[in-house]
Amino acid sequence: MHVKYNYLAEQFSDSVFEKVLPEIRELIASGEFTLGPYVDKFEKKFAKYVGVKHVISTNNGTDALILCLKAVGVKPGDEVITVANTFYATAGAIVACGATPRFVDCNERYSMDPTKIETALTSKTTAILPVHWAGQPADMKEIMAIADRHRIAVVEDACPSVGASIDGKSVGTFGKVNAFSMHPLKPLNVCGDGGMVTTNDDKCAEWLRLYRNHGMVDRDHIDIWGVNNRLQPFQAVMGCHVLDTMPQIIKVRNANARRFDEGLADLPDFVRLCPRPKGMLEVYQLYLCTVKKRDDLVKYLNEKGIEAKVHYPVALHLQKAAKNLGYKKGDFPVAEQQADEIVTLPSHQHLTLDQIDYTIDCVHKFYKQFN
Ligand SMILES: *Cc1c(COP(=O)(O)O)cnc(C)c1O
Repeated sequence: MHVKYNYLAEQFSDSVFEKVLPEIRELIASGEFTLGPYVDKFEKKFAKYVGVKHVISTNNGTDALILCLKAVGVKPGDEVITVANTFYATAGAIVACGATPRFVDCNERYSMDPTKIETALTSKTTAILPVHWAGQPADMKEIMAIADRHRIAVVEDACPSVGASIDGKSVGTFGKVNAFSMHPLKPLNVCGDGGMVTTNDDKCAEWLRLYRNHGMVDRDHIDIWGVNNRLQPFQAVMGCHVLDTMPQIIKVRNANARRFDEGLADLPDFVRLCPRPKGMLEVYQLYLCTVKKRDDLVKYLNEKGIEAKVHYPVALHLQKAAKNLGYKKGDFPVAEQQADEIVTLPSHQHLTLDQIDYTIDCVHKFYKQFN
């Protein structure tokens, strides 16, 4: 049996594309290719879905993060606190602003450990950048309390987590300015790249709208020097369509994850499941757990046709890119152990129950040899 990791052919199949085709034709006939009504419509719809006052769409999640950091005033020489196990873009965005990433270790949910934040604070810290890693909310209550106590801005990297929430409040609404991605392998995806910035702060929103589009107040006047970080209207049309299907996507992904949790619960010596705190709604961009003999398991599953993957085998502070930051092995033991043990099992909304059960079965078969 083949269990694919990538589901884009199914998600954007002909029958789905047929549905959006009339609007794509309309868009092309309109010639509204830079911002305009299709982008406005998607931003409004996204704002309503997330429950936030302002949404500023961007060309991708990484640039959304860079805009967020700049909007809260991160500048060259500053330090920004983030977590040691995340996608490269989280730290890359900090560096792109001329600032320095200061990592903290993970908790048992592969997420920023709030108890480690205060030891990473210095007089140069201007922002805390928690990550809703793999579709799973970070501990925003604790993180916001620490940030408020020290009067430091929070920027949420909610890139992989559209639709995730804590006690009914969406991620991307806790921090001052926050970023989402619509990369093809995020739960809300478009046919290419796309990003979103969310904020309830009027001043930040105004600056973001200007900066994203060359600082233009109108065709002939600019108030500030800006950049071009615009979302493509074609992607806005696709995004509107996928947003309508988010409740269903989230429902199926949660059901799949529950099936994995239950199916793997009887292997406590080999598989450690992620704790699922009450009130946290996950969207499972990735289904993650930590396992013994990870590399052998991944190889075995791949041989069985299951496209298991690793996100990621090297913690960020041990990457070559981080060598000037002064970290060494042993600095973040939890993140390092997770890098050795974490595995991603295909769990997207286009899998059949048979494919999930086959995966669970193969994991059992692999560990049987050690019993
Ligand atoms: C995907 C991702 C990003 C980057 O988003 P892009 O749209 O690919 O630029 C940033 N941070 C995290 C945690 C992500 O998962």
